[in-house]
Amino acid sequence: MNINLAINNGSKILRNNLIPNAQLDSEILMAKTINKDRKYILLNYTNSINKKELKKFYKLIQLRSVGNPVSYLTNKKFFWNSEFFITNDILIPRPDTELVVENVLNLTKQKNKMHILEIGVGSGCIILSILKERENFYGTGIDISKKCLNICKINAVNLKVSSKLRLYKTDVDKFNLGKYDLIVSNPPYIKKSKLKYLERDVAKFEPKLALDGGLDGLSEIRKVIKKSSVLIKRNGKFILEIGFDQKNKVINLLKKEGFYINNTQKDLARNDRCIVCTKI
Ligand code: GLN
Repeated sequence: MNINLAINNGSKILRNNLIPNAQLDSEILMAKTINKDRKYILLNYTNSINKKELKKFYKLIQLRSVGNPVSYLTNKKFFWNSEFFITNDILIPRPDTELVVENVLNLTKQKNKMHILEIGVGSGCIILSILKERENFYGTGIDISKKCLNICKINAVNLKVSSKLRLYKTDVDKFNLGKYDLIVSNPPYIKKSKLKYLERDVAKFEPKLALDGGLDGLSEIRKVIKKSSVLIKRNGKFILEIGFDQKNKVINLLKKEGFYINNTQKDLARNDRCIVCTKI
């Protein structure tokens, strides 16, 4: 069978299973199957693939048909300026989270040296993107999941910033090391009761640990704010990702912990998503 025909078959199966972007996903999964990039696929549509490859391809199509996210099947996700290694132990980096990176880069244009803390690193997409853009910045990342830290480490090595990053496996409550010029975090902020109503791909396949914000969605955010208030230097900036309906509540929490709110920002879907504040 040739590549073109296999992709069209795969795409049909995905469409029948109501997967959006069926054609694109089928092309990406073909690229993964034969270990090439999408450009190769587009330029070599008529090349044939062998039985073993075809079997592997249909296996991936089947996994995608039941909702497995493409990033878990390809073990890749592009975020900001880099490609990240991804497994189903971590939350897939979201384009909305690039807002956090953008804010940090805007705020630190004039800064030469800084020490940044990220609470809950996951894949490392936020802190590693920052370290890659700013030569003399140093990072500390914490996470409660050892698996996340292992993946973050792999990404740090791939992006050639591992010498500037320290990682610790710890609960945010128990971490008391250092003082930081700037803190970032994208903590779990979905209400427990809402988890099952998230998109199927998210609800069924992404780690609850990275999403579950407890009964009111704010239980992790509360801990992160409390701890940041202790670990941040005076006048240090704190950049936090939040849920679409949490802006006012989070602003109140921040003010109570001695933060001045600089601004809040909306994501691509016009939902409140990011808060920038300063410790006073
Ligand atoms: N934005 C994520 C979602 O779409 C949630 C991320 C989080 O809880 N930090 O599901």
